[in-house]
Amino acid sequence: MSTVIDLRSDTVTHPTPAMRQAMANAIVGDDVYGDDPTVRELETLAARLLGKEAALFVPSGNFGNQLALFTHCQRGDEVILGDDCHIVWHETGGAAVIAGVQLRTIASANGVLPAPEVKKRIRDGEDIHWPRTGLICLENAHSNGRVIPLADMAAVWDVAQQHSVPVHLDGARVFNAAVHLGCDVRDITRYSDTVMCCLSKGLAAPVGSILAGPAAFIARARKNRKLLGGGLRQAGVLAAPGLLALTDMVAHLPEDHANARYLAEQLAALPGVEVNLDDVHINMVWFRLPATLDSGRLMAALAAANIKANGPEGGLMRLVTHWQVGRSELDRVIAVFASVLAA
Ligand SMILES: *Cc1c(COP(=O)(O)O)cnc(C)c1O
Repeated sequence: MSTVIDLRSDTVTHPTPAMRQAMANAIVGDDVYGDDPTVRELETLAARLLGKEAALFVPSGNFGNQLALFTHCQRGDEVILGDDCHIVWHETGGAAVIAGVQLRTIASANGVLPAPEVKKRIRDGEDIHWPRTGLICLENAHSNGRVIPLADMAAVWDVAQQHSVPVHLDGARVFNAAVHLGCDVRDITRYSDTVMCCLSKGLAAPVGSILAGPAAFIARARKNRKLLGGGLRQAGVLAAPGLLALTDMVAHLPEDHANARYLAEQLAALPGVEVNLDDVHINMVWFRLPATLDSGRLMAALAAANIKANGPEGGLMRLVTHWQVGRSELDRVIAVFASVLAA
């Protein structure tokens, strides 16, 4: 039987063999006492790479974003962000439960927040009816797979600075964004006060994300992490693969992106498949299948070939590349699409 090819997401990645070795050998201590040297090493490295004073290891990206909202804001504050962002769509309404904030969404232009629209919504007067604008959130790379241009981030950052409102960047895939832009990750994170980035996903760590920002903010976030039950004891076994995520796996991302482009180009060559190649920025390929295609038949053919994929929604399908999917695996995938479309 051929190996399983899983293109549902980059969240499905397994730790690399080097990561498993590092987990077994990790030096650990009680991190709630600040005693775990591997966690401290990870937090120091992550802060440096992300261009922030300090960093905190957190259990997940969702946790990191919600911790950022909780630490930046007071209850009843308003958070300005895009209507299609992860915090709005995929975090279980946590902002209302944990930080107790009101999310004020703006129609994003393919993930881009128009700075003039952000400016219009900032409330910094003393009107007793108004909530305070506590935070602006950006997302890059966007979870739609597109990378937001630096100029658009800079425009929002300028507005935020004018009004003294902090900016949090949901940078779950910020290293993918840097690869696409051909810049240092710090050229992206400079347009935010705080940033969350995932060590899992394309970077292949089994667990964990980073929240980075000013030292005083991270000190408060550390206490809030404990409040939320995210104080982990001998977390060095999880920080060890996180270190390899930042040292080794960042260098692998260009290959994931090249593979996504290869997949996109091969799919685009199939009859009736529509791919906007200009939208393939990172490791995600979105494409439209012919309206006449029986998606049940496609999914059955993929399953029979040991290929896991999320089915099309409204004719639109997404495939995601990662370190466990190379060219030969992609050729197997393309062959299935070709045969189903030819039938
Ligand atoms: C995946 C993702 C998250 C959440 O990360 P988890 O580790 O899955 O909780 C947050 N924001 C964006 C943009 C993401 O893609």
